[in-house]
Amino acid sequence: METSIKRKKTRPVFLGKVQVGGNASVAVQSMTSTDTRDVKATVRQIRRLEEAGCEIVRVAVPDREAAAALTEIKKQITIPLVADIHFNYRLAIEAIESGVDGIRINPGNISKEKILKIVESARYRGTVIRIGINAGSLEKDLLKKYGGPNSTALVESALRSLAFLENAGCKSIKLSVKASDVITTVQANRELSGKTDYPLHLGVTEAGSIINAAVKSAIGMGILLCEGIGDTLRVSVTGDPVAEIGVAYAILRAIGMRKVGPDIISCPTCGRCEINLFKLTQEVENKLAGMKSYLKVALMGCVVNGPGEAAEADIGIAGGKGYGLLFKKGKVIKKVKEKDFVKTLLAEIDSMVADRKEI
Ligand code: SF4
Repeated sequence: METSIKRKKTRPVFLGKVQVGGNASVAVQSMTSTDTRDVKATVRQIRRLEEAGCEIVRVAVPDREAAAALTEIKKQITIPLVADIHFNYRLAIEAIESGVDGIRINPGNISKEKILKIVESARYRGTVIRIGINAGSLEKDLLKKYGGPNSTALVESALRSLAFLENAGCKSIKLSVKASDVITTVQANRELSGKTDYPLHLGVTEAGSIINAAVKSAIGMGILLCEGIGDTLRVSVTGDPVAEIGVAYAILRAIGMRKVGPDIISCPTCGRCEINLFKLTQEVENKLAGMKSYLKVALMGCVVNGPGEAAEADIGIAGGKGYGLLFKKGKVIKKVKEKDFVKTLLAEIDSMVADRKEI
């Protein structure tokens, strides 16, 4: 499936080699859950994220020790590093001087004179600044004016900070307006996208554990992405951040925006199913985890409907009693014994991927 979504044209910014905005693909990012001061654990987690397909990583910088760890972290990873700073402008400047590719600040909680110092340092080093507005930390005057953190208040906060940064001569800017409420997030991003052409970072905050996070993110970001809004995204999951990457790509694949990784489709099973499809699906998912090539793999419970129902899949197995049919694009290739399903499927996938150019 090729996407017919017309993306809004935004100004490109560059985090290291990764372009965000302009004509770039929507970049997938995440944030570490480790203590940034623990370089070893943080680097280990970033490498796992990278392995899963993370393209930009953010780390929290709550104190000077964490800021001091950034140089070493940056040295040991290859994807762009973003420092997340609240309140303390000195930490922002230390982060910029340590060579991070971007910083995320909420200008609402740093004074104007101090923001000017951050901008000066960021301009000198070419560091991208994300103005990250969250419903939970809006300026008091806006909360009073709008009676709460609604979408208009979020947008006004973002535009106010944007105007200040622009006046200070800052050009490499990304914006985000996030709320834990999906509809507020959607409305805020729509409004913001209509008022600026800076690249937008999408996210629904405090989305919860995996099921809630996946649903809220798919709805919130899915609506926006389908309207052409959004240049980079982060799915927030309470738990291992590696799961965020899987959800992010699943959203982008579902709307045809990124063709990365295996798209595993499996039937819900019914009374016709004669194999352990749940076990097969789990095994195949585990074995293909981390595969970068895009391939649609179908795992279907019966030979009666399986190959037909999954005709658009690149490859698939439809189970029968003790055996199954291996099919490609709906055409049956051969009969396979149930005990050989995974082995046969993986061998075929390996040879298909080896023959393909696109990653
Ligand atoms: S593919 Fe077969 S087993 Fe799976 S839901 Fe359809 S009819 Fe049932």
